[in-house]
Amino acid sequence: MQDYSEKLNDVYDEQLGRHLVASMSIEAGETLLDERPLLVAPHWECGQLKCAQCLQESYVMCRKCQVYPLCMDCSEHDAFECEFFASGAGSRISKDLLVKNYGICALLKLLLLLEQPDQRALCQTLLDTPVKLEDYRNEDGLWQERDEQVVRPLMSSGLVQAFPDQQLTAEVLHAHCIRIDNSAYEVTARDGDTLKGVYVRGASLPHSCVPNTVVALDEQFNMKLYAAVPLESGDIIYTSYTNPLMGTSQRQHQLRLSRHKECACTRCLDATELNTHMSSMKCRGCPDGYAVCQLSGSGDWRCLNASCGAVIPATEVHELLAEVGSALVEARGELSAYETLLDQHKQLLHPNHFLLLDIKQNIASILRAASLMNSLNDPCKKLLARRVELCGDLLPVCRAVVPGLSKLYAIALFEYLLAFVELTELQFAEGDVNKKEYVAQLTRARSVAKEALDLLQFEPENSAEGFLTDRIGVELERIESDLMKYGKL
Ligand SMILES: [Zn+2]
Ligand SMILES: [Zn+2]
Ligand SMILES: [Zn+2]
Ligand SMILES: [Zn+2]
Repeated sequence: MQDYSEKLNDVYDEQLGRHLVASMSIEAGETLLDERPLLVAPHWECGQLKCAQCLQESYVMCRKCQVYPLCMDCSEHDAFECEFFASGAGSRISKDLLVKNYGICALLKLLLLLEQPDQRALCQTLLDTPVKLEDYRNEDGLWQERDEQVVRPLMSSGLVQAFPDQQLTAEVLHAHCIRIDNSAYEVTARDGDTLKGVYVRGASLPHSCVPNTVVALDEQFNMKLYAAVPLESGDIIYTSYTNPLMGTSQRQHQLRLSRHKECACTRCLDATELNTHMSSMKCRGCPDGYAVCQLSGSGDWRCLNASCGAVIPATEVHELLAEVGSALVEARGELSAYETLLDQHKQLLHPNHFLLLDIKQNIASILRAASLMNSLNDPCKKLLARRVELCGDLLPVCRAVVPGLSKLYAIALFEYLLAFVELTELQFAEGDVNKKEYVAQLTRARSVAKEALDLLQFEPENSAEGFLTDRIGVELERIESDLMKYGKL
């Protein structure tokens, strides 16, 4: 792993705790951190045994220690872990410790790392972050769940006696669990399941809904953090732990739950959410006004038209959002259900409202899947045109909420590109557009593909985004060869 520390300074302040600031001017795309995960493990509630080596589904146990699961492809796992249970300090611990409580995996890994002198220093940075247990004790079910599935099974397993130097108590274990959660990113295993990757530096960055860096994860779960926009010396390095396609109050809720943090970024402080209006309502008092949340006042929504100023009470907005939210869950992939929802609510919400965008994304992905399976028959062009429109609606919003090098925007461009090229080719094949129009549309497709590739150019090759880059490259080649063929008018 390369060291990029000359670009960053470690800083501490009351409000942000330990964080990093740029120590020089940095260009967009420049790498800031390159970090191996301290550990990768399933979520606490995981009930499925996973291979200790590759983290894919597994049903057999390691023959040597008989504690850790392995898959058919892996014959061994971490030597220290294996030895510890095979003949070391943990050899007398019940062999079904993990079978009974697989969720303890992450915590067990951390405890075993702490037993190894060469790993201890790295873990210590994590352990040095203060945790106020009383802030977590009353969390809805979470504390209880961890207590039952992770902490108590470990306390009664005999492991506490096997690690006398660590002076483990239930409190210490709870604090470890919280530190693990607060330093984890969701990562995707090769079998598509999500896991948590714990990163000591990369996951301790302060949050902003408008981050100035991009987190890239390769297939080995190595993290690369690079600048999304040009940075000046003294700029605080931010990442985002929330979904940028949610409204402000939803993002803040997510952040409170996952990180126990509040956000006061430019987007959170702007009722129009950077002019995207992702939480704005249609005004009921005037024909073309939009109402936004009064962030520093009553919390009600008020029309932005100065001559109108009509108010929608916050309780009404929240009820409506909850209603649409549960209808979205109910819709369960049913195209007509999403279409009805869209029709019902576009009269009430701003066209960029996050719930409408969510419904539109659902419709677009159903149409895409149908087109892949060739299950669209006659009205093919109409549905394709609809997909182009839906994907197109998402583009300006994705562009606005994540500035600079944005994976979100690149993926939205790719989805748009696929639909647009498919439609264009069909229109040309069926004679709806002439050669000149076809070339003009392909030229547009080419610039969309190039824009997406530009945004992904700093992603590692062996990552989901790296594979997406290849996929866009193939599409671009096809577009260019058609342009060569038809471009000479
Ligand atoms: Zn394996
Ligand atoms: Zn083993
Ligand atoms: Zn924010
Ligand atoms: Zn109004």
